[in-house]
Amino acid sequence: MTPISDTPSTMNKTGLWRVIFPKVDEEKCRRCAICWKFCPDAAIQLVDGVPHIILDFCKGCGICANECPAKCIAMVEEGER
Ligand code: SF4
Ligand code: SF4
Repeated sequence: MTPISDTPSTMNKTGLWRVIFPKVDEEKCRRCAICWKFCPDAAIQLVDGVPHIILDFCKGCGICANECPAKCIAMVEEGER
């Protein structure tokens, strides 16, 4: 048996789970979109190729930071935003 949600993911504010969040160094970003492809919550929007984090849905998992080939995403505490 596979557990499934009874609400669409747009109603599931996964950002409420977050204790750390991704901070992108736009100067170092190569605009490769790998972070965008790997984000499990579709919480990254590309604006002119630069990732912008949609905080309502970013759960702070750190996958984007781990996959970024330029290592330009840091996972930081709320006060470091
Ligand atoms: S931390 Fe996780 S949920 Fe947030 S943008 Fe990165 S991959 Fe997506
Ligand atoms: S994976 Fe890294 S280099 Fe590529 S678009 Fe995302 S932040 Fe920029």
